Amino acid sequence: MSCPAALPVTTRHVAVIGAGAAGLVAARELRREGHGVVVFERSNRVGGTWVYTKETESDPLGIDGARNVIQSSMYSSLRTNLPREVMGFRDYPFVATGQGFRGDPRRFPGHEEVLGYLERFGREFGLVEGGIVRFEKEARRVWRGEDGRWKVAWMNGRELAEEVFDAVVVCNGHFTEPRLAEICGIDTWPGKQMHSHNYRTPDPFHNQAVVLIGSSASAVDISRDISPVASEVHVACRCPEVGSLGKQPGHDNMWIHPMIDRVCEDGTVIFLDGSSVRADVIMHCTGYKYHFPFLETDGIVTVDDNCVGPLYKHVFPPLLAPWLSFVGLPWKVIPFPQFEHQTKWIAGALSGRIALPSQKAMSEDVDSFYSDLEAAGVPKRYTHNMANYQFDYNDWLARETGCDPTEEWRKQMYRACSLNRHARPETYRDEWDDHEWIAEAYVDLAKYT
Ligand code: FAD
Repeated sequence: MSCPAALPVTTRHVAVIGAGAAGLVAARELRREGHGVVVFERSNRVGGTWVYTKETESDPLGIDGARNVIQSSMYSSLRTNLPREVMGFRDYPFVATGQGFRGDPRRFPGHEEVLGYLERFGREFGLVEGGIVRFEKEARRVWRGEDGRWKVAWMNGRELAEEVFDAVVVCNGHFTEPRLAEICGIDTWPGKQMHSHNYRTPDPFHNQAVVLIGSSASAVDISRDISPVASEVHVACRCPEVGSLGKQPGHDNMWIHPMIDRVCEDGTVIFLDGSSVRADVIMHCTGYKYHFPFLETDGIVTVDDNCVGPLYKHVFPPLLAPWLSFVGLPWKVIPFPQFEHQTKWIAGALSGRIALPSQKAMSEDVDSFYSDLEAAGVPKRYTHNMANYQFDYNDWLARETGCDPTEEWRKQMYRACSLNRHARPETYRDEWDDHEWIAEAYVDLAKYT
């Protein structure tokens, strides 16, 4: 991959909030550009989402503001839903090779393998041992002082400590704060409710009749994970695919239904087609909300119906650019390579090597993006859904940063994987046909391995 050599014009003191995949690559790109970086991480290790824990939150639905918040929504059986070649950073491939490799060599590996990869990334680029990441330092407040510089306050033991920065890059993840389905009659329904955020293993679901709401990767995975032990598994989807309703092939105890219409005091769950089941558990696999409890922008950046904005190209609030930026908001994307593109752009904009449009031009761009979405009838909560244009977006960023566009093999492999997942929902992680793209990927990735 060709990228211009870093020619820093001005170096800045930059705070990064979070040391998951986004925060780690942000720190690397900012350092490459010559900036001074401090990464605030509330836990005691890097990896964010990929740090599996058996622990669950005290409130299984995640509504109680006083609950113990657990960052990761990882479940024990999780294997990646993207092939490793596609998923990895562009110049630090996620491949199962190298001296003394003792990990999980599968193409769609388990979560431990991803965590190991991110830990290696952190070590390789001197972010962990180099003291760039400050562990167990949760950013409690991030705000702009009167002089226009940014302050970050964190708990240092019992005291609140603060430090001043030129810029803040927000990388706190968006798979922690549950979104819930609204269900008529739920207050008097006697069963147990939870969000998939607190799902870890199938054990608690022995002989239970479980209704899962959602059609996301989590609903698909968890329904299959619990079906061997549960008495019945019912998946309620807002937009079930044509022909998918009813008993699921290959499973004795799994059904797909339309959405829930209402639930009753006797434990019944009634679906929109009038069918009903008696259920012990309702699990909301209904996604997450963007949440920045630490960020104070005097109303310049807001979260409205899960749209974070206004943001120029999902990264910079025009009024605060380039001093405040967000990494990793888009969804239905390949996350790691996109984080890499976004953070190169942020690093270059902060040094002055890459020029951003004027504030007015950025605001106009955002307004026109929102108008287009509205005209196309796209609900606000889908603002950051990039299913149809992630590669165009990444290639735009690549042009801004002077890097190569997305590799053809990565695009083709991503498409092949999506089709395969659809065609072989039970086995797509172990059976595939995209051999030619795998061969091409390994030739390309050999440059970095
Ligand atoms: P996170 O990983 O959530 O990291 C955020 C970090 O910020 C955490 O370390 C957290 O402790 C820290 N933090 C938060 N608030 C603060 C604060 N106030 N102060 C200091 N630190 C803070 N992606 C794939 O590419 N392939 C997959 O197969 C895949 N599967 C997934 C499965 C599940 C169940 C989930 C939930 C996500 C999956 N993803 C997958 C998406 C995954 O989330 C992204 O790949 C990526 O790991 C997100 O990284 P992040 O850095 O944005 O956020």
